[in-house]
Amino acid sequence: MMEHLHADIRQLLHNSNRILILSHIRPDGDAVGSMLGLGLSLLELGKDVQMVLSDGVQRTFRHLTGAENILHHSSGDFDAIITLDASDPRRLGDGLEGRTPDLNIDHHVTNLNFARLNFVLPEATATAAILAEYLPVWGLPITKPVAEALLTGMVTDTIGFRTSNMNPTTLRLAATLMEAGADLPELYKRALINRSFAATRYWGLGLSDLQREGRLAWTTLTLENRKASGYTGTDDADLTNVLSGIDECDIVVLFIEQKEGTVKVSWRAQPGWDVSQIAFSFGGGGHSAAAGADIPGTLEEVRPKVLEATRQLLDTKK
Ligand code: AMP
Ligand code: MN
Ligand code: MN
Repeated sequence: MMEHLHADIRQLLHNSNRILILSHIRPDGDAVGSMLGLGLSLLELGKDVQMVLSDGVQRTFRHLTGAENILHHSSGDFDAIITLDASDPRRLGDGLEGRTPDLNIDHHVTNLNFARLNFVLPEATATAAILAEYLPVWGLPITKPVAEALLTGMVTDTIGFRTSNMNPTTLRLAATLMEAGADLPELYKRALINRSFAATRYWGLGLSDLQREGRLAWTTLTLENRKASGYTGTDDADLTNVLSGIDECDIVVLFIEQKEGTVKVSWRAQPGWDVSQIAFSFGGGGHSAAAGADIPGTLEEVRPKVLEATRQLLDTKK
């Protein structure tokens, strides 16, 4: 089964000349890192590659080789369309333009298997980890810039190799990428430690509204907070990573108000809980310990519904 799939993927990658690579909106390190990892490797084979992120590359990842070549929109026709780190076609923004992708490579349990070939490994810690393992199997090279991109994706999705899904394979793959020339401490610092003054102020505004009810904590980042801090991103600037460390809580929720009249919700859970299904029930998805959804409505409409569904989950283990 799997051998057929690898033969098909290998054939697709080697026989296609014009290749479009897409990943999800509000791209994280895994979206950017896996895109550049695959894209730069295909460029080594002489392929004509277009890499497209509807929201562009956030400043945290612009140091990666090739980041400047990532476009907001695709143009022209393609022999192959590949999606990375996206569980659902809607996560790709307007990238697909109604086309069916040829290959979907991802690690979300909630993946809808929406492409012609679907390579989804929920036990993988990052889509970049899947690529680090399988690019060589598919006959694609891991050069230094490819290794740097993939290691960045692995470091960010595991928050520095410390998420509950961490496994020895991830560390072995990371070691291989270091041997290929990736500077782990430098990439780690740029992806997870360095942050702008504005992002730090944005954190402060989010933290000042932090609420707690038993084992549940939540806070909100409003459009007003974004404006007041000068933060230019549309995400949480990784504030969830701080919230998930609250000792007293099993689940934390972050509400991020969006311009389009939607609210981006992020859940983070301690081991033993599965928040991916709540996210899925609100039209989103993710992993058991980290999930998200984009929910239409105002903060006042969305917040109570989400908190109620999350309380109900917590109540199942009272
Ligand atoms: P986030 O809270 O955005 O950091 O995302 C946590 C996890 O949930 C990541 O693996 C995301 O890919 C996934 N996720 C976030 N938002 C959505 C969404 N709207 N639909 C599907 N998956 C999502
Ligand atoms: Mn991602
Ligand atoms: Mn990922």
